[in-house]
Amino acid sequence: MKWSWRIARVAGIDVYLHATFLILLAWVGLSHYLARHSLGDAADGLLFISTLFGIVVLHELGHALAARRYGIRTRDITLLPIGGVARLERMPEDPRQELVVALAGPAVNVVLAILLLALLVPATALRNFGDVQLVGGHFLSKLVWVNVALAVFNLIPAFPMDGGRVLRALLAMRMEYVRATEIAARIGQGLALVFGAVGLFWNPFLIFIALFVWMGAAGEAGMVQMKSALGGIPIRQVMITDYQTLSPHDPVSRAVEHIMAGFQQDFPVVTNG
Ligand code: ZN
Repeated sequence: MKWSWRIARVAGIDVYLHATFLILLAWVGLSHYLARHSLGDAADGLLFISTLFGIVVLHELGHALAARRYGIRTRDITLLPIGGVARLERMPEDPRQELVVALAGPAVNVVLAILLLALLVPATALRNFGDVQLVGGHFLSKLVWVNVALAVFNLIPAFPMDGGRVLRALLAMRMEYVRATEIAARIGQGLALVFGAVGLFWNPFLIFIALFVWMGAAGEAGMVQMKSALGGIPIRQVMITDYQTLSPHDPVSRAVEHIMAGFQQDFPVVTNG
């Protein structure tokens, strides 16, 4: 993606930070600072948002490593203000594989939430017994909620979000792939409208997510339709068979005529056959 910097390489996959992410960091830092004019608050806010996006990277790695099991490579992972995007070189066409890849991201958040709870529960129990202060306990419990929220939000069936891919995979097990994609995309666009409407009144980030879902659903549905329409056509039907050649004595205008008349851009120059 343009305007991105590589910040890490995890499991052989480059992780990029998109320039617009810096706007998010600036906004978080500034809004935390302005609330009480405290640099400590600003640092807390930045630490929280960085950890949040660290968790997002782990979520995307969940998808990437599940895809790797099926021999699908991940080009890169890019962090945008609205979340992370793992660019898989393709999505598995076997619905069962797509189901596993789509669920792997939210599964990472579920596991993280359980691990964090396992850390928190004994600490909270201890605090109830004595007067043990748990440093960062509040931070950890916020992270539990972050993971629960990420898992739940991503599982909303708004194709091409994870839940939408789960829906497409489940539908594709029962009907044609193109039809399944069409239905999932239509539901996705319906939910994008809901996100957009809710975003207007509540959280402007949802408007960006709505746009992302709307365009993603339309794009993927179009691609699947095109692939299926062209899928059965053998190459001999679409190759150029009427191939023009030029002789060394032809004027350049003849080449121009050929270019204007067809798709051919390059001409072998032939003498005596
Ligand atoms: Zn995901």
